[in-house]
Amino acid sequence: MQSRFSRFLFAIAIGGLFHFSGAVAFAQDGDAGNPTQWIVRESKHLRLASDVNEPELLEDLTQSFDAAVPQWLAFWGMPESRLKNWKIDGYLMRNVDAFRERGALPASITPFRHGFSSPGTIWVRYQDTRYYNRHLVLHEGVHSLAFELFGAGGPSWFMEGTAELLALHRERVIVPKRLSPESEEPARTLLAQSMDPFTINQFPRNRADTPGWGRYKIVARDRDANSLPTLKSVLKLPMELNGKVEAYTWCWAAASLFSQAPESREAFLKAASRGSDQSEAFTSEFYRDVAEDWPVLSARWRLLLNDLDYGFDWSRHRIALSTSDPRATGAPVEMRVSSDQAWHSTGQWFPRGARLRFAVSGQCQVTTDWTSGPAGISIEFHRGAPLGQLQVCVLPIASPDQGTLPPMQIQSVITKTDVARQIASGNSDADAVDSLVIQGTQEVLIREPSWVLLRINLPIDHQPIASDSALGYQVKVVPVR
Ligand SMILES: [Zn+2]
Repeated sequence: MQSRFSRFLFAIAIGGLFHFSGAVAFAQDGDAGNPTQWIVRESKHLRLASDVNEPELLEDLTQSFDAAVPQWLAFWGMPESRLKNWKIDGYLMRNVDAFRERGALPASITPFRHGFSSPGTIWVRYQDTRYYNRHLVLHEGVHSLAFELFGAGGPSWFMEGTAELLALHRERVIVPKRLSPESEEPARTLLAQSMDPFTINQFPRNRADTPGWGRYKIVARDRDANSLPTLKSVLKLPMELNGKVEAYTWCWAAASLFSQAPESREAFLKAASRGSDQSEAFTSEFYRDVAEDWPVLSARWRLLLNDLDYGFDWSRHRIALSTSDPRATGAPVEMRVSSDQAWHSTGQWFPRGARLRFAVSGQCQVTTDWTSGPAGISIEFHRGAPLGQLQVCVLPIASPDQGTLPPMQIQSVITKTDVARQIASGNSDADAVDSLVIQGTQEVLIREPSWVLLRINLPIDHQPIASDSALGYQVKVVPVR
């Protein structure tokens, strides 16, 4: 996954010769001393050679590459015609030494764990899963694309973040075309036969969507260990990531955030055009562009890493946070918390020392069989808390720049005792649970200036089940005087 500027210069210098040596190698079928015959597949944008004798895999990789190119251009807001004649060489290597011996992998390129790119060539080590082979070919392809479009891919957080972002896609269910016994020709219509359209920049819904990718394991591990990095520290990652999957994970998550958040999207896309600058100046300029909204971006980062897992989808995480949110006036805030979105902001920030209580009414359908009140149901759980439980998150406006993120302050709002007390008070009948207002007895203390967010505890990929009336809770946030 490395792509270093010095090597880039070298690759340019040997570029012409390089293509030539590659061509000679492929012309000699069945190289003596190398029992594996290299195979070559060529599409509009990629000529891929490999010692892995899987024509169908190579066909998939080249076709996927061609399908990705217009999507990459669209991401950067460029017309498809921009890369009309762009084509690179690629090597998918099982026996890396054989590629070195034949000159297809220059000696100047030091050993790498996954892949390597130059402006005109990519090298990828063969992986166990088809998904991850495709992911790495696309990842290295994005580096080559960045050379072509922008001169280079910027510093590591940007370069690796965008490569990961634009390589991530979902495994497709492919119905292989039956080949005639004498035909060596692989299916030409592989993409047309897939069940899902091939789309980059997608979050995996489950493990089967991205076999071999495994980034969420790292997020969960560091979340459990309270060692998630701050957003600022990701921007300061060194140029050499040395194939560390952790670093790639954070670069990807940051790139996803910056390209999605309304505060940074424009600055992030604009930054690509400065890609030939791989110094700190690149990052300083990006930071200047978003500095005013940095507290919001840092807060979004904390929320993202707290939730990131299979099924995460930005469309459920459009949280209205702003540095111009007003300070809380001390008056109660009424809001609806629905099940079709994750966190909902109260739309204000609360000063240090504020104490809040909550009064909640309403029901939420949490599964096809179960409806919940704000205390949640005790039969099914998500991340250790009852499904349907109304939760509050006190999200400090200031996030640390250095080190790791402090744990999130998330707690329930209404207890089962609160519900029982309300019912026992006789102010309602069992048939009117929808209109029953439950007074929470727990107080939430604000220890530093913070946003206050609310959500219904639901699986990350929860889809609203019933009609609007069953979508959520009506909440009154009451400052305690
Ligand atoms: Zn890379």
